[in-house]
Amino acid sequence: MHDPRPAQGLRPIINVSGTMTGLGASIAAPQVVEAIAAFLPQFVEIDALQKQASKVIARLTGGEAGYVTASCAAGITLAIAGAMTREDLAAIERLPNTAGLKDEVVIQMGHMVHYGASIEQGIRLSGAKVVTVGTSTYAQEYQLAGAITDKTAAALFVVSHHVVEYGQIGLKEFCDVCHAKGVPVIVDAASEYDLKRFLADGADIVLYSGHKFLSGPTAGIVAGRKDLVRATYLQNLGIGRGMKVGKEGMIGVIAALTAWETRDHAGIKAKEDGYLALWQEKLNGLPGVTATVLPDPTENPLNRLKVQIDAGEARITAWDLADMVAANDPPLIVRDHEAEHGYIWLDPCNLHPGQEGLVADILVKAFTAALQRNDYQPTRVGDRQRKRFERMRTWPD
Ligand SMILES: *Cc1c(COP(=O)(O)O)cnc(C)c1O
Repeated sequence: MHDPRPAQGLRPIINVSGTMTGLGASIAAPQVVEAIAAFLPQFVEIDALQKQASKVIARLTGGEAGYVTASCAAGITLAIAGAMTREDLAAIERLPNTAGLKDEVVIQMGHMVHYGASIEQGIRLSGAKVVTVGTSTYAQEYQLAGAITDKTAAALFVVSHHVVEYGQIGLKEFCDVCHAKGVPVIVDAASEYDLKRFLADGADIVLYSGHKFLSGPTAGIVAGRKDLVRATYLQNLGIGRGMKVGKEGMIGVIAALTAWETRDHAGIKAKEDGYLALWQEKLNGLPGVTATVLPDPTENPLNRLKVQIDAGEARITAWDLADMVAANDPPLIVRDHEAEHGYIWLDPCNLHPGQEGLVADILVKAFTAALQRNDYQPTRVGDRQRKRFERMRTWPD
């Protein structure tokens, strides 16, 4: 079993929430840990290392070229910067002043997501202006075509469970409309397994996180059309400087991608499905609790357990249950972004071997404790959010 001792005297976390950067994202693959440790004491010619990364990224994504940046969020800002400046070094140094450049970015309103920060700000950080297409639940090809002008530098498309899940233009159609007007398409696929599909569907640039499903270090991957990847890379001479990735990020991504090629994807999924079956068996039957296995909404090869909680019968709301298990020792962090609908999710992909039983025990203990107390007052969702931001505002106290 995984060594449960907390790092740095911090509380050890049991993570069934998914690849959350606020929790350290993912368990780095052993090959990644080894490659980074061996590389850290070395000097290296960064451009040569990035050229190696380009080859590996190209092989895995099917793109012409690629490079490693600080994060997917950095990749969004920099890919847009690259689409505006291309290889003009003077323009690169002038950003975020975009005078004289095409500087509009079109994006469907339903893709204006928040991943810990707003994607809209990620676009504006480059100096670009955001032009939204349609409304949150209704975007059509004619609206996209109408939003593109002679100032349009790029179009951004987001693949994520965060986007509105209906009423959106699909990627292929989105690319067709943009390409007919000569506009490159950048896809934010931060948290997606499929490394080939989005470029194959027509994207010019695709962006991934190194630290999510790939089990690499904190980093971002930029892949796709060589001229646009190069223009994005050149932003390191400008606004990209503050989003710099180190040699450890580059070698770590190379190791993560190489490990990805030989990873036993089917075996891992079978093991994860075993965890879900165990949790489902332990939870179903508790008063007011219904646990259902459901596939990932963006077709990643991953199932999660949806735990629907009837607050009347279970005598606890979904969000109070999430907070209760998070206060456990050790803390169990569940996927609670939809808790206000009365359910939480259990994500099996970030567990150390042996933790699956502990997850079930902590949850059963919490549900049992909830049934036994008489003084329960549900927290209001708004109060819960307010408390979170208060904690942020008083950090580091
Ligand atoms: C996580 C995420 C990001 C940010 O990725 P980082 O690599 O952590 O910067 C961007 N977009 C989406 C859709 C995400 O899920």
